Order: sequence, then C-alpha cells, then structure tokens
Amino acid sequence: MTAPVILSARGVTKRFGGRGDVIARGLARLGLARPRPVVRAVEDVSFDLHRGEVLGVVGESGCGKSTLGRMVAGLLDPSEGEITAEAPDASTGPLPMQMIFQDPFSSLNPRKRVSSLIGEAPRVHRIVSPSDLDGYVTDLMDRCGIDASYRDRFSHQFSGGQRQRIGIARALAVKPEILVCDEAVSALDVSIQAQIINLFMDLRDEFGLTYLFISHDLGVVEHIADRIIVMYLGRIVECGPAEQIFHDPQHPYTRALIDGVPRLDRRRTVYAPIKGDIPSPIDPPKGCHFHPRCPLAEARCRSARPALRDIAPGRQAACHLIEPDAIKGEPTWPATQTG
Ligand code: SF4
Repeated sequence: MTAPVILSARGVTKRFGGRGDVIARGLARLGLARPRPVVRAVEDVSFDLHRGEVLGVVGESGCGKSTLGRMVAGLLDPSEGEITAEAPDASTGPLPMQMIFQDPFSSLNPRKRVSSLIGEAPRVHRIVSPSDLDGYVTDLMDRCGIDASYRDRFSHQFSGGQRQRIGIARALAVKPEILVCDEAVSALDVSIQAQIINLFMDLRDEFGLTYLFISHDLGVVEHIADRIIVMYLGRIVECGPAEQIFHDPQHPYTRALIDGVPRLDRRRTVYAPIKGDIPSPIDPPKGCHFHPRCPLAEARCRSARPALRDIAPGRQAACHLIEPDAIKGEPTWPATQTG
C-alpha cells in the first residue's frame, strides 16, 4: 500500500464502568452498593488507514468493533491511546469524518423532509451558499440514486434501502474524507445490500473517500475491503490484505469465521461452528482470550497473552503457534471442515 496514511490509531483502549461518580464510589465504600464492573470493550488496538482504502473490521457481536468505530468517528473518547486523522501535509488540520449507522430509520429525523435532512448540515456549516443549496441537495440525491422529485417527502415514506441512500447523501453533504460505516448494510435485504455496496464503491472513486467498514458479515466485507482487521474480545487477532486473509487465514479464530461464510462452491461442506459463546468482556479469559474456544489451545495459551506479531509483509497475527514464516510453507493448520 503506497497511499499515505491519513488516520492512525495507537494503543487505543476503551473501558466502560469502573469507578463511577462520587456518590457511587461513596456507596461502594460504605458497602451499600457493589462497585461497578469494568467492561473492557477495546484493548490496545493500533492500525493505520491509508487514503482511498477500505479497511474492513470484522468479528462477532461484542468484539469491540462498533466501539472502535465510534472512537474513530469521534463519538467516544478512548480511555487510553490516541487516534489522529490528518492530511499527510498536516496543513488542513483534522480530516472531516462522518459515520453511517446500521438502522437508517432511527438515524433520520422523522419530522424533517429529505431536502432538510441532507441540506441542513452544509447550510449550518456554510459549506454551500444559501442560493446554491437547492442545487447541491439535488446533485447529492442524484449521485446517491434518490429521485430528486422526492425531496419534500419524509423518511418514513421510503424503503430501507432508500433510507440508507438518504443517510449516505446526508453524510456526504459535509464533504467528509473518511466514512465510518457501522453495519451499514446489515439491516437490508441481500439484493439491496449489493446496490448499496456498489454505491459505496462508486462514491469512493468519485469523491476519493476512505472507509472504515465495520461488519459481522464476512461475505459483505470480502466484496468491499482492501485490508481486514479481525477482532476478538476487544483485541486485534489478525490483520492483512483482504484477499490473503480470505484465502489463507492464519489465526484459528479467523479460520473459523471464514469457514462459516456460505459459498456456492462449498455446498457439500459440513460447517463446523466455533464452540461456545464469546466470553464476557467484564471478566475476559487470561492469556489468549480465544483459548476457551480454540481447538488448538495449549497450556501456555491459558497464561500468556500472544502478542500481535508480523507474520509476513503487511500481515500480523496474535497466536503462539503461528511462526513468522507461516505463510510461505504448507498450510499451518489442520482442516476444520470435511467435504
Ligand atoms: Fe489458539 Fe493458543 Fe493461538 Fe490462542 S494462542 S489462538 S488459544 S493456539
């Protein structure tokens, strides 16, 4: 990847709960209330986002991917670490960023007409003059595939796919450089998902956008992402180019996730689901967080946390059993499926 880095996260950690306010702490000290538990949502996550790329973040529910997205978009502050988003020459200050949410219905104000939903932010921020606003909104609706003659309708008069298009047009209206998409197509029918993904890719080319694309659906991420981060219980367990991750996954968790993606060419494959549930982030397992569910766990996995190490150019994984040259040789892991 030769494109410059425009967003960088270093040692980002997010904890919820814990000490609480003065009253909660006082009650806990007097034994009148239990101390609030600490939820470790994201732990020590570092990555770079390059201009123009789509970085997919995948993992099961509760892995911390949405919390990470919210921190990147500036909606949450990290408990530790920092996230910086600046143009490479640092002359224009922080890069504008927008977030697109899973549920387009609840993210749109039902009392506002489409023209106002899309046009309000650029008007308030003086991105366009009042005289140009109508044309600006019409142009955005056009580019996002919304009939401009519907500009005076309300969001409840649209289908789910159209509402997501309105959400995208609203995000683009403030001219962002980075879009954080949090399960942005998960609530849509499969055929509509494909349309919205194609729209994302067209808009990337047209506006030079960079995406952090968060999804639990690996089938969707495979189509859109250039690189992938796999998260488990708040930590990155593997990252690398999308094609390599999908065709040669190294971490046992990544392998299990990818084995679970339905494929037409694997119709006779017997799916071997990951055993057990994702543990609680309040009391995560010691050592490798994945060890209670990992078929390859050894004694050291229960006590020592595996570091995220370089295993090949552009690829990293956190597993005691993966050697730095794992990718060059024969497949490292026994097959988990029969066919
Ligand atoms: Fe499995 Fe051990 Fe690797 Fe964790 S470190 S993924 S438990 S083999």
